[in-house]
Amino acid sequence: MNNFNYIRANSPSEASDQVLNADGAMLIAGGTNLVDLWKYNLLHPKLLVDINHLSECHSITELEDGGLRLGALVSNADTAYHPLVEERYPLLSKAILAGASAQIRNMATNGGNLLQRTRCYYFYDPDAPCNKRNPGSGCSAIEGYNRIHAILGASSACIAVFPSDMCVALAALGAVVQVVGKNGERSIPFTDFHRLPGDTPEVDNALQPGELITSIDLPGHGFARHYSYLKLRDRHSYAFALVSVATALDIEDGVIRDARIALGGVAHKPWRVADAEASLVGKEANEESFAAAADIILQGAQGFQYNQFKIELAKRAIIRNGMMALHPETQLPGAQPSA
Ligand SMILES: Cc1cc2nc3c(=O)[nH]c(=O)nc-3n(C[C@H](O)[C@H](O)[C@H](O)COP(=O)(O)OP(=O)(O)OC[C@H]3O[C@@H](n4cnc5c(N)ncnc54)[C@H](O)[C@@H]3O)c2cc1C
Ligand code: SF4
Repeated sequence: MNNFNYIRANSPSEASDQVLNADGAMLIAGGTNLVDLWKYNLLHPKLLVDINHLSECHSITELEDGGLRLGALVSNADTAYHPLVEERYPLLSKAILAGASAQIRNMATNGGNLLQRTRCYYFYDPDAPCNKRNPGSGCSAIEGYNRIHAILGASSACIAVFPSDMCVALAALGAVVQVVGKNGERSIPFTDFHRLPGDTPEVDNALQPGELITSIDLPGHGFARHYSYLKLRDRHSYAFALVSVATALDIEDGVIRDARIALGGVAHKPWRVADAEASLVGKEANEESFAAAADIILQGAQGFQYNQFKIELAKRAIIRNGMMALHPETQLPGAQPSA
């Protein structure tokens, strides 16, 4: 048994101060990732700062600009089934429900989902060299069993992928992360929130020490008419994506006016390519257009010994999901709730 202390925070700024000022302090929300990593002997918090009682982070509210604010402590389940999310941001509902299990989604929070760590097998093995867990120790995956690893944006220090489903939809929708820390509040556009590994794969995101996520804001336009989330994985239940795609389209008379395509399971962050999205504008929404966009997205993709298949899989997934976005009711499989 590990000894640790526990306190409840009364406000986001107090939580931030407590984490910053106490050695070995960590925030705990739903605990579904933190406690997991602790049980694997990968984390050893000396102080748990419980943020579950911060009432200001527990609601979903409408913003003046027509958008929606998702409190960081609202559960993934309550977010996916919220009537305004289902009506205006069905892509987000589908992506959340494709992840984890009903029980985990009931505990998992929105803020925690953004901060979950990679599922790289070697990261979870305390005896394996891993630059993300132990900087400078090496990367066991590059020459090892790398079936689930990155095909885009990887570095010679780390080829891990970021495993979230929810975040793929948030990237496509252009969400903004609201945070508070010792220097006050700030907003981080979703595309800048997660980072590529480079030489410092131990740093997953743009949060400064002690910063706390308070909410995630969705812009007014939710792409509720033409959208689809496709998650391809080894089994339907309890599996992370090998490749996932969130597609959101604005279509008028069969012609694409605006397009968003974000990929999951392929890189250290949800992957969006502006040139590919721009290439779709003014085109007919058909397989040929999506195939051309897929080629742009996958330019420079590089597989390793066991994950070469992901490049072709991603291409087919982008095309298939584009076509399913034309008729969202057809989106199968992968957008159905994961059991
Ligand atoms: C078996 C299993 C299967 C899963 N499958 C999937 C899947 O298919 N798809 C998917 O997307 N996810 C999946 N998950 C991951 C799950 O969605 C995440 O574990 C969950 O969203 C994390 O939220 P939490 O509230 O439990 O975070 P916690 O475990 O409480 O915290 C995670 C990290 O975030 C920090 N933190 C939490 N909240 C905040 C905040 N507001 N501000 C700053 N720091 C914070 C904590 O300090 C900790 O470092 C799975 C998890 C499990 C256990
Ligand atoms: S891919 Fe990244 S997380 Fe996995 S072993 Fe290499 S450094 Fe560690």
